[in-house]
Amino acid sequence: MAEVAVLGAGFVGLSCAYWLMRDGHRVTLIDPQGPGEGASFGNAGTFANYACIPVNNPEVFRNLPRFLFSHTSPLRIRWRYMPQLAPWLVRFLANSTPRRYGACAEALAQLLSRAFEGYREMLSAEELNAFVRQRECLYLYSSAAAFKAAQPSLALRRKLGVAFDHYDRDGIRQMEPNLAAIFEHGTLFRDSWFLTDPRGFLRALHSSLIARGLQHERVAVRTIEPLSDGVRLVDDAAKANDTEHAIVCTGALSARFARQCGDRVPLDTERGYHVRFPGTSALISRPCGWAERGFYLTPMAGGVRAAGMVELGGFGPRKNRGLLNLLTTSAREALPGLGEVDSDWLGFRPSLPDGLPVIGHASATPRVVYAFGHQHLGVTLGGLTGSVVADLVAGRRPPVNLDPYSPRRF
Ligand SMILES: Cc1cc2nc3c(=O)[nH]c(=O)nc-3n(C[C@H](O)[C@H](O)[C@H](O)COP(=O)(O)OP(=O)(O)OC[C@H]3O[C@@H](n4cnc5c(N)ncnc54)[C@H](O)[C@@H]3O)c2cc1C
Repeated sequence: MAEVAVLGAGFVGLSCAYWLMRDGHRVTLIDPQGPGEGASFGNAGTFANYACIPVNNPEVFRNLPRFLFSHTSPLRIRWRYMPQLAPWLVRFLANSTPRRYGACAEALAQLLSRAFEGYREMLSAEELNAFVRQRECLYLYSSAAAFKAAQPSLALRRKLGVAFDHYDRDGIRQMEPNLAAIFEHGTLFRDSWFLTDPRGFLRALHSSLIARGLQHERVAVRTIEPLSDGVRLVDDAAKANDTEHAIVCTGALSARFARQCGDRVPLDTERGYHVRFPGTSALISRPCGWAERGFYLTPMAGGVRAAGMVELGGFGPRKNRGLLNLLTTSAREALPGLGEVDSDWLGFRPSLPDGLPVIGHASATPRVVYAFGHQHLGVTLGGLTGSVVADLVAGRRPPVNLDPYSPRRF
């Protein structure tokens, strides 16, 4: 059994630690922060096994003007970031042709159809299963036109094996009576579920792994240097640590490690937001996603969390108050019983321009494995990614063809 360092304590890193320890490896988690403090903290918590439609799709060409200039658009660009963003955006548009979109959707569906395998065993532990609610996610459309526009992507989902049922106004009201009567159509995705507290889940997973021997070094890694028989990690205090394998799960901040290991990966971030309405969780029983407005309402432990939006604007910490206001007012429009917001959050989705993650060996050495870039799906795909990474470290053949997620595909 080997010594393995896992960089990053989000959904992906902790799932890798879980599966590697299951194989008997000695695992050290390296992250200056505690578990679930990055993008894994403030997401919508949905196990979205139906979400095989990448953000890059042929509709973006038609919808881009509306997305960029409508005051209710959930997509924003920070124009000052455009010089850095432009190469990513060009690749994003190149991946939005019907052919590329179809291939990316298929590659996502390949992972999503197996996503639960990554969690099944983990969730047999009572302390982790306590965070799971077996309530399916409901997409909502406030106009017939929006529902009609969604038909091609719904048809593609169905073709790729996603099961769902449609509901009309009455059906929605029976399911979620506190929603405003503004939704004409709803789509309920079978076999989806959600977490009531994503960070709480990761803290519980972290504690159970620590109890089984996981080491956690609270330092930031600065460089990864491939060695002939292992990997050298140098931290921010210039301290070097040698290990046999290293797994890069540092989310949106992973590109520089890939560069150090011989791969140029066009990783950027889709900034996302949440606001919390304390004490309101009883208003809905499941994640309700307002399709046109690009966010979910999820009944979390501390209140309803409205989470979503996409802002292309780099890693700066300044929040877009306009987008937060839109999120807050849209949430109240959908669920009028929501009161005041007590906290808000900005997080950085790790996003590649084709909407697919990077999972595979580094070019410079097979001792380094990448597992990052899970964009809108890191909660859903963390578990499976961890099991695939454990396969790669063990030299086993993973259950999925990893070509579409290769770091060398760009
Ligand atoms: C608003 C919003 C809603 C979302 N909703 C959902 C959802 O409903 N379902 C879903 O599946 N996904 C959802 N996502 C996406 C999901 O949250 C992310 O894909 C996922 O959290 C990424 O996990 P990760 O482990 O790759 O990265 P992160 O959680 O960001 O973890 C990366 C870790 O790396 C550490 N790190 C960074 N640099 C270093 C370094 N130099 N050395 C050591 N450690 C380092 C960080 O401290 C951090 O802890 C949502 C995202 C957002 C923003």
